[in-house]
Amino acid sequence: MMRKYLIPILYPRRCPVCSKVLPFSTRICPSCQDSLPWIRGPVCFRCGKPVTSEEQELCYDCRQFPKSFYYGMSILLYNEETQPILVAFKYHNRRMLSEFFAEQIYLRHRLEIADLQPDLIVPVPIHKNKRRKRGYNQAGLLARDLSALTGIPSLNQLLVRSVDTIPQKQLTPQARLNNLEGVFHVNPAYLDKIKGIRTVLLIDDIYTTGATMEICSRALLSAGVGRVCICTVCTGVSRD
Ligand SMILES: [Zn+2]
Ligand SMILES: [Zn+2]
Repeated sequence: MMRKYLIPILYPRRCPVCSKVLPFSTRICPSCQDSLPWIRGPVCFRCGKPVTSEEQELCYDCRQFPKSFYYGMSILLYNEETQPILVAFKYHNRRMLSEFFAEQIYLRHRLEIADLQPDLIVPVPIHKNKRRKRGYNQAGLLARDLSALTGIPSLNQLLVRSVDTIPQKQLTPQARLNNLEGVFHVNPAYLDKIKGIRTVLLIDDIYTTGATMEICSRALLSAGVGRVCICTVCTGVSRD
């Protein structure tokens, strides 16, 4: 009991963005929270990326490369401000940031999530070598925390990443897709768990061209899942 109260005094929580000591029970300082690039305004119906006008239903990437998933949500723009926060999320401050991101996803998208009625929340997996080295999968933390907030069960071992590192940065969107073909699959041990599943909410920290989400979505659909929706913390901007 004492321990619980002593630890915050001895080791005050620091803002993961600016390192200032945090006010009690906050996970990011109020001024950093205000200045983050929250997604407001029109977004692509398919992937949740910001688009330039309300009339634009789909972003450039979704028009060029039609997606197999049904609906996408994100909360922050991926830029020079959020990039270091995602790095911190991957390597430090993980618990606190995962709770913060999950809460923000819940606050901003709970009505859509309620409409979509997902049966399961599933994280995009990392390779087991990476998991061993890092100790956790950041998307797995998000899935667990969003599950706690929504009451929707999460199944962290449903998807498996069978190939470790594949350089993606230099590749075109189509080449990224080809590059990831066969990298993700549904864990055969869990096939019976997804029988009759109508909607899966697939979760990850970042969405760029959507290649990872697309390949994971295809794996789930071909295993018999009825519909896949996606949710990420950060997303890029549409190229048009
Ligand atoms: Zn701060
Ligand atoms: Zn899109």
